[in-house]
Amino acid sequence: DVGRRVLGVLTDTPLPSAPETPHVLVTEDIGPSDVARLDTSRVRGLVTALGGATSHSAILARSLGIPAVVGAGPSVLAIADGSELIVDGERGRVSVMPSASRRARAEEAIAGHEQRQAAAWETRMAPAITRDGHQVEVVANLGNTAHAGDAVERGAEGVGLLRTEFVFMAHPQAPDLATQTAQYGEALDALDGRPLVARTLDVGGDKPLPYWPLPREDNPFLGLRGIRLALTRPEVLETQVRALLMAAGSRPIRLMFPMVKDLAELRAARAIVERVRSELDAAHEAEHGQPLMRDVQVGVMIEIPSAALTAASIAPEVDFFSVGTNDLTQYTLAIDRGHATLSAQADGLHPAVLRLIEMTVAAAHAHGAWVGVCGELASDDQAVGVLVGLGVDELSVSSRQIPLVKARVRELDLTMAREQARVALAQPTSEDVRSALDSLIEQNAQPHPRQEEQV
Ligand code: PEP
Ligand code: MG
Repeated sequence: DVGRRVLGVLTDTPLPSAPETPHVLVTEDIGPSDVARLDTSRVRGLVTALGGATSHSAILARSLGIPAVVGAGPSVLAIADGSELIVDGERGRVSVMPSASRRARAEEAIAGHEQRQAAAWETRMAPAITRDGHQVEVVANLGNTAHAGDAVERGAEGVGLLRTEFVFMAHPQAPDLATQTAQYGEALDALDGRPLVARTLDVGGDKPLPYWPLPREDNPFLGLRGIRLALTRPEVLETQVRALLMAAGSRPIRLMFPMVKDLAELRAARAIVERVRSELDAAHEAEHGQPLMRDVQVGVMIEIPSAALTAASIAPEVDFFSVGTNDLTQYTLAIDRGHATLSAQADGLHPAVLRLIEMTVAAAHAHGAWVGVCGELASDDQAVGVLVGLGVDELSVSSRQIPLVKARVRELDLTMAREQARVALAQPTSEDVRSALDSLIEQNAQPHPRQEEQV
């Protein structure tokens, strides 16, 4: 990204400047830093030819509330400047030069969405309880500890995924114990007693860390990343765990390990937590003459199929699982999550992924552990009912999505959600899952919009 900008300056090639009026940005691909700099009052939609729906650019666009369709294919680059477009970020559809009736339907849908959003905002602080009284926790995904207060303001009941690698990326070298303790403390202060699920450092694959150089690998997503990388330098993990426990004190902290493939990796990581915890507890007791009542839980992300398939052996040794559907989908369907052209097929509503979630929930609940979903699927409007029906206890989504996800849960009843899960599991492909869910929901909704004029 930086290289491209420097080349632009060196070759005197001005980067295209955006129009002053509200517009849809259509581009070949876009880096996370470009997305972060978009003026959200002017950029009303984003369409890219390349890129994946769970790439970091797409996740960022979603967190900024910009409707985005990424990886739409090279034909979008042929759209003439000034053409009218409809961007349906929820369905991943772009309509070019829509007819008057298509446009009217889109305007109606936008007005309906705005109304839903306004109503959801009013009730954002209330819990998400289905019509028949089943409560689902709705919490926030964060990359920046300074955003915890904003998440609470948007109705978050806690943080379900703190991507701590962003804390590390914000520093030119690994932040020391004091720096980390202060940063995690900032999030815990803002949460004011609500739980914080902190994922330990998840570097490698799509998340490089400049000061942790990795050997060149043919398949970095199948190489040194996540917990297997962290365990190669246990002192880094140890400092992080110490900082998290020190920052939390007696406040609720959940430690979560990324990319765990089986029980052996959990045990190796957990041993570090136990060691650090007993050192801190002994020091506290020596200083204060009494033990500190901690509220610590330990869990793993379920994002490798082997972890879901062996969840029954892991569950007795954890307090919770959190399903990372971005990676779980990538590894189950063997499609790189950021793949330029295939990622449209990497849909977390694939029955194979849903089956793994079903197994995970069954294993967890049999051992008294709870299950969250912290991948992008948790905020997919069509998936919320299915996940609740599969027995998921917590949905962790970007802060902006919290009011709507809560509202969605309140529209459900558990019997209906279980029916959605049953129907979804019985389908052969994700396309079939989506259309079967559409038909189920259509029974009391508007007729389905026509599919014309779509790229
Ligand atoms: C996931 O893989 O679904 C996840 C939540 O983690 P990340 O997107 O940071 O890999
Ligand atoms: Mg992941």
